[in-house]
Amino acid sequence: MNKITIFFYILKLILQNVVRYIYLPSKGLPALMVLNVSENGVENTMPDKEKVPGSDMKEESVLTVIKSDHEKTSKEIKQLEAVKPGDAAANNMTFTGLQKELLGHMHAEEKLVFPLITNDEKELIKDALEEHKKIRDSLKKLSKGPIGTPAWLDELKTMKKTIEHHVKEEEGPIFTAIRKKVDAATLQRLGPQFKLEEKKE
Ligand SMILES: [Zn+2]
Repeated sequence: MNKITIFFYILKLILQNVVRYIYLPSKGLPALMVLNVSENGVENTMPDKEKVPGSDMKEESVLTVIKSDHEKTSKEIKQLEAVKPGDAAANNMTFTGLQKELLGHMHAEEKLVFPLITNDEKELIKDALEEHKKIRDSLKKLSKGPIGTPAWLDELKTMKKTIEHHVKEEEGPIFTAIRKKVDAATLQRLGPQFKLEEKKE
């Protein structure tokens, strides 16, 4: 490279970084929208994905975390519905896992998510709390076992229905109420907090 090429190369690097770290953030735009000048000098505005480290990615929204918890729970309940009574160890492990997750999930919702809702939508939370109580009661009964008996499976079915209703209410009107009141950045900040809180129960 001759001196002029090196000069322009350095100039390009400086300009790219000024745009990326000073100009775009000052306009409230993400750094990945940086103007990319390719080697032949042709400009393109493709997002500069390769150069954006993972740490720049936004956190998972708390609503996404809640949704994936719900999906996981529903899969585990299906597994438990098909238990073979003889397979006590495996059944116990599946149930203990489900119990721990549900208790953590409900605790984190009560601590971090339900308080986001105020005034007019309070009724929704009252119903949700009643359902949480029903789920906790079912878990208590189910934990006494023995897993897989008709009575046990009946109780599991009762809990499944309560959970299905909980999921419908939460992902429907409760999420809508939260989205109205809480901005996206806050929801994203709450994602990892929710995961931590779940482990505390
Ligand atoms: Zn939930």
